[in-house]
Amino acid sequence: MTLLVPILGDQLSHGLASLRGANPADTVILMMEVAEETTYVRHHKAKIVLILSAMRHFADELREAGWTVDYVRLDDPENKGSFTGEVGRALERHEASAIRIVEAGEWRVSQAIQGWSGRFGVPVEVLGDDRFICPLPDFFAWAASRRELVMESFYRQQRRRTGLLMEPDGTPTGGQWNFDKDNRAPPPKERPLREPKRFAPDAITQEVIALVEGRFRHHFGTLDRFALPVTAAEAEALLADFVEERLPRFGTYQDAMLEGADFLYHSRLSTSLNCGLLTARQVCEAAEAAHRAGTVPLNAAEGFIRQMIGWREYIRGMYWLEMPGLSDANFFENKRELPDFYWTGETDMACCADSVRNTRDNAYAHHIQRLMVLGNFAMLAGIDPAQVADWYLVVYADAYEWVEHPNVLGMSQYADGGRLGTKPYAGSGAYINRMSNYCKGCRYDVKKRVGDDACPFNALYWDFLDRNDRKLRGNRRLWQPYATWDRFGEQTKAEIRAQSQQFLESLQPAAPGWARAAGQPPAGG
Ligand SMILES: Cc1cc2nc3c(=O)[nH]c(=O)nc-3n(C[C@H](O)[C@H](O)[C@H](O)COP(=O)(O)OP(=O)(O)OC[C@H]3O[C@@H](n4cnc5c(N)ncnc54)[C@H](O)[C@@H]3O)c2cc1C
Ligand code: SF4
Repeated sequence: MTLLVPILGDQLSHGLASLRGANPADTVILMMEVAEETTYVRHHKAKIVLILSAMRHFADELREAGWTVDYVRLDDPENKGSFTGEVGRALERHEASAIRIVEAGEWRVSQAIQGWSGRFGVPVEVLGDDRFICPLPDFFAWAASRRELVMESFYRQQRRRTGLLMEPDGTPTGGQWNFDKDNRAPPPKERPLREPKRFAPDAITQEVIALVEGRFRHHFGTLDRFALPVTAAEAEALLADFVEERLPRFGTYQDAMLEGADFLYHSRLSTSLNCGLLTARQVCEAAEAAHRAGTVPLNAAEGFIRQMIGWREYIRGMYWLEMPGLSDANFFENKRELPDFYWTGETDMACCADSVRNTRDNAYAHHIQRLMVLGNFAMLAGIDPAQVADWYLVVYADAYEWVEHPNVLGMSQYADGGRLGTKPYAGSGAYINRMSNYCKGCRYDVKKRVGDDACPFNALYWDFLDRNDRKLRGNRRLWQPYATWDRFGEQTKAEIRAQSQQFLESLQPAAPGWARAAGQPPAGG
């Protein structure tokens, strides 16, 4: 009896549940590069290189460890182009009588897996993904017991569950659960000491780069700077470099932005975590150990661990709780087309231009660029949230639907009407000015609301509140901005509305074909 164990592109972990307890003598591991996954949205070139190269490296490591690996390449002429098609072929090839797989990270793929047993007539065992600390049934039980799904209460449960930064008497280290208020410093005067560790493409990665430059040349993004970890060993080296160099000030400058400083004090670990080269527990233990050794202050270690076991796992739970409805969520009924500058970077708004440039060059932007610059702009401008979600899924190397959808449609666009956040993350130019140096070099004046040189975020912000008065005024966390709006005279209000309208009409909609294969994508992508 042969057991077929498919391993998906975001399951590249040697400790994967489906491998534990399997016997290499009667197991065939199936790894598949399929066209459906590389093109259902037109992913950034760097994202495709990362996943294919990491898969090929992982397959080699498995073979070295004694496993039989059946690896189907993208350019295999027999390749059926979908997971289901390839699993069907592999079952015949190996005369396998059962399938074992770890649950998929995306709704779309999990639906396909559910159909396999009926379709192929073999038992399919779907195991929970225990690389996440909180099993999904536990998350659902937590959610069912709450009126409001506030991340902080989930996070405290996760701290108790893991024992991370906990004292033997059950209290949090430092006497406090959360040091977020110490984590909002404006950008530092000095720059980080050195760029994050880079990993030069080896022969395997170079071969994949050539494939992507040929087959996916019209996709968004550049590959000139590709230097992401593609093996667990490289990811561990990036983690060690982060803990030593950036983590000590990660907490303090978590929300800061500096023009041209692409990574600041951030870890850049999300790409490795999301495809399985690192686990959440492993990176948290490294951060805690550094704190206990005295090299990392508590606000930094706690801030980082909160992102990992709090936000990351809460986001994943919310995805499975809210799907499939989340994909179509559109609380504000926004319909405007995504502006062209999200793809070209051509805009006079210095904050947006730099964030898109970082995205194009590195398939990366840090959290505040994603949330308070590009996400904030899209929500204020009333962009169709489905188009915004497509953009985020395409452009970031760490983007998989389970993490992208709740962050974009929930946290950033408030398209879920507040299931995930207690208020929209809306901000005027003043926020960006406080947390960055962008406004100093911008052609717009961040202090102005109206006029040719007025910062667009300002009129858009007030117009957004006014436009959505019926839906938002009752939110207790928004009473202050509405009180300010109410104090504006009628003439001021009319000027703001006109300024916003004029600006929105000046936006060039993106040409079709950037995100999904509808016609030929624009040249130069
Ligand atoms: C609109 C929007 C879209 C996003 N899309 C994605 C996405 O597609 N994939 C993704 O991994 N993250 C996404 N995030 C969350 C976050 O911005 C990225 O995880 C982070 O920027 C990755 O960079 P880093 O590894 O340097 O993170 P750091 O700033 O160093 O943070 C450490 C780690 O914490 C975790 N983390 C922090 N915040 C979140 C969060 N809100 N959700 C999930 N994990 C979190 C990540 O694993 C990250 O690697 C999104 C956030 C927003 C606001
Ligand atoms: S002035 Fe406005 S548009 Fe320009 S960088 Fe500042 S916030 Fe962005």
